[in-house]
Amino acid sequence: MTPHVAAPDPQAGAAVKAADRAHVFHSWSAQGLIDPLAVAGAEGSYFWDYDGNRYLDFSSGLVYTNIGYQHPKVVAAIQEQAGKLATFAPAFAVDVRSEAARLIAERTPGDLDKIFFTNGGAEAVENAVRMARLHTGRHKVLSAFRSYHGATSTAINLTGDPRRWASDTGTAGVVRFWAPFLYRSPFYSENEQQECERALAHLEDTIAFEGPATIAAIILESVPGTAGIMTPPPGYLAGVREICDKYGIVFVLDEVMAGFGRTGKWFAADNFDVVPDLITFAKGVNSGYVPLGGVAINAEIAATFDKRPYPGGMTYSGHPLACAAAVATIQVMEDEKVVEHAAHIGENVLGPGLRELAERHPSVGDVRGLGVFWAIELVRDRETREPLVPYNAAGEAAAPMAAVGSTMKKNGLWPFINMNRVHAVPACNVSESEVKEGLAALDVALSVADEYT
Ligand code: PMP
Repeated sequence: MTPHVAAPDPQAGAAVKAADRAHVFHSWSAQGLIDPLAVAGAEGSYFWDYDGNRYLDFSSGLVYTNIGYQHPKVVAAIQEQAGKLATFAPAFAVDVRSEAARLIAERTPGDLDKIFFTNGGAEAVENAVRMARLHTGRHKVLSAFRSYHGATSTAINLTGDPRRWASDTGTAGVVRFWAPFLYRSPFYSENEQQECERALAHLEDTIAFEGPATIAAIILESVPGTAGIMTPPPGYLAGVREICDKYGIVFVLDEVMAGFGRTGKWFAADNFDVVPDLITFAKGVNSGYVPLGGVAINAEIAATFDKRPYPGGMTYSGHPLACAAAVATIQVMEDEKVVEHAAHIGENVLGPGLRELAERHPSVGDVRGLGVFWAIELVRDRETREPLVPYNAAGEAAAPMAAVGSTMKKNGLWPFINMNRVHAVPACNVSESEVKEGLAALDVALSVADEYT
């Protein structure tokens, strides 16, 4: 669906930008060096600015608008809830909160049937760790390098990649390990099976040297997202599950980004037939129309807090407007078969399209992903796999990726770029023709990347 784009109004855009520059302190940015686009509106897979430029959003915002922008049924549900009961404190049973919890619990794997609501992903991670620590009576948490778990204090420390460096206070008990990633294998493996076996052996060694009886939890993104969409080799997550069972460790899968249809299943864990003890979620649960996240909890851990109070919660946990958006989003995803559609797009349109681009563009070192969750890794040299920009590149060093990004934008495609990667992460209900439009713009941008090889 190509949306109607409002008439250009550059003057209004300039006013929005001026107020933004004066008063908005932006996340993850050097305030004086950024020039954010002023957005005038959005619909479906598109958004537009005040100058009349329209963009196909291949980033889904921050990988969260899983059913696109302004879905009329979700907007209507939020409006209706606002008229009925706009807010109510978390200690009460509220119809829309119970219904959201039921719908989420019915879709989580195994017996993860209790839902603790938060306002986003980082809070979900903080609480999953707290639950695991109280449940086990242990304190250490193992997390992977090449991961992201959020920007609050424990979540940023669990984050394995360079985003944690600036705020790394060294949270007591956080231990990092290497998860599998064949393209840049930390174990120098030659194939996926070897990578899987070596990664599991390394994890077990890490546990042995840290002391199994001190480890409360292992947290992993089912498919690591912002760190590079690194689909784990077959058997890896099942192997981690076995290790957790062997040592009495709580297995937490962080599905804040990978959950709710993004991988072509309700939860990414379903691709690997694995049932963790806790799942953290946010983003796609209600397409981010109102902030919402949470932890899905299995029966055993939930029982820990049956007679003993759970010591944690937020004022807005399970906010009625957010829950109304979740109920409507899940209903839309069922009615419009959005999850199945995401799987189809990945298998038949986006995946093959990206692989075809890789054949023609020497700058593409690797293509990987599933569903509507793909990354292409850009390199100077396919043989050496030298990244097009160094990891954690900033300023001058990132110029090649900036050139790639601006070419995409000039061609009406809004990308998600991180380090040397372009992530192709459109809405789960993106149409085939929209994907083809995006691939055509990507094709042009990759010619720019090729000049640096
Ligand atoms: N975990 C993962 C896997 C994420 O991708 C993110 C956000 N990108 C978070 C946690 C943190 O979520 P939030 O930004 O909502 O706090």
